[in-house]
Amino acid sequence: MKVRTLILGAGAAGLFCAAHAGRDVLVVDHAKRAGEKIRISGGGRCNFTNMDVSAKNFLSQNIHFCKSALARYTPWDFIGLVSAYGIDWHEKTLGQLFCDNSAKDIVNMLVTEAEKAGAKLWLETEIVEVRRIDRFIVSLRRNGKDITVEADHLVVATGGKSIPKMGATGLAYQIAEQFGLAVTDTRAALVPFTFSDSRFAEVSGIALPVLARAATGPAFAEALLCTHRGLSGPAMLQVSSYWTSGEAVDIDLIPTIDLTETLRKARSTDPRKSVTTILARVLPSRLVDHLTAEFDLSGNCAEWSDGRIENLRLALSHWQVKPTGTEGYRTAEVTLGGVDTDGLSSTTMEAKTVDGLYFIGESVDVTGWLGGYNFQWAWASAHAAGTAIANRA
Ligand SMILES: Cc1cc2nc3c(=O)[nH]c(=O)nc-3n(C[C@H](O)[C@H](O)[C@H](O)COP(=O)(O)OP(=O)(O)OC[C@H]3O[C@@H](n4cnc5c(N)ncnc54)[C@H](O)[C@@H]3O)c2cc1C
Repeated sequence: MKVRTLILGAGAAGLFCAAHAGRDVLVVDHAKRAGEKIRISGGGRCNFTNMDVSAKNFLSQNIHFCKSALARYTPWDFIGLVSAYGIDWHEKTLGQLFCDNSAKDIVNMLVTEAEKAGAKLWLETEIVEVRRIDRFIVSLRRNGKDITVEADHLVVATGGKSIPKMGATGLAYQIAEQFGLAVTDTRAALVPFTFSDSRFAEVSGIALPVLARAATGPAFAEALLCTHRGLSGPAMLQVSSYWTSGEAVDIDLIPTIDLTETLRKARSTDPRKSVTTILARVLPSRLVDHLTAEFDLSGNCAEWSDGRIENLRLALSHWQVKPTGTEGYRTAEVTLGGVDTDGLSSTTMEAKTVDGLYFIGESVDVTGWLGGYNFQWAWASAHAAGTAIANRA
């Protein structure tokens, strides 16, 4: 069987590329349903983009690589498409756009767009082997039968390694290496932190706004969530993308609280109250109990000197925790790293050394922050590759 374009992976990037890649496109995927990650994303409502997207929201060895594709397919282009399909959406926080109804609306929209463009979709199809002799020759196994597909263009959109249970494999990296392209180190990102002891079990369920940062990278003003296994919540997921094993995470537990003012005032208004009682007015009381194991919070307000108050303010605004690790690919929202952008064209996503071979979406070493950035990269990189293929002679 011969096609003009074969797309491996019917996830966010693969489906969107199929809608733009012109005639004679076949999309194959081993999953039972297309766009499974979209379906579960954003708690079932899909945070499909962010109103404020720029290169600063991404991690990559070459931070400039993503700029061209992101500039040519913007959040407003995708919002226009979503609105044209009558899918209602809302901004939740920090520019993050979610479906009002269900993430399934986005999956249905993408499948419809691909079908409207004439693309064929083969699910439950195993990719056995990829070769290239003039054209790409891909061996597939479908319904118990071996099928060979020849294609002029091969788009690899099989994503990263996160959530293997949902069908994630490292296939994109294998194909890249097979064709002589470099792959950067990969690891789980946007993932909860774990600790060797169960120190956070007693405070599990507590959530509070914090300002958190790893040793490198920006500070994130988002929520922290304590869990039985460790620390999670948007702030920790964001920090995990910048964290290196063995490092401490710096957490400001009081980013919006003037602790100095609170405790100094309490010295005159509540001199006989314990400092822990005053702290429990501004922080969750179970967290205050937990902190007494780490810090000396004994004594009444009247006993606390300015110096002691200042030391506590510093300690709580730079709370240092050293995770043992992360929950890994089992729960990670994305894979950090991927196909080295040095080997790809930033305008078309085509491999510089292999004519007709494209990598898009999460498979590429472009990893977004939490907040709709990863889907925007999937749409933008897929659009770049798709339109380039459609325009080829
Ligand atoms: C729980 C969760 C929630 C998320 N929520 C959001 C969110 O709200 N907003 C956001 O921007 N991002 C979110 N993300 C990240 C986002 O889902 C991914 O960045 C995005 O799906 C990447 O798109 P992709 O097409 O490159 O890869 P994928 O969507 O992962 O698609 C890859 C496809 O390739 C197929 N495949 C893989 N290996 C093979 C193989 N060997 N043979 C055949 N087929 C194969 C898979 O079955 C899959 O269909 C979330 C991720 C997770 C895990």
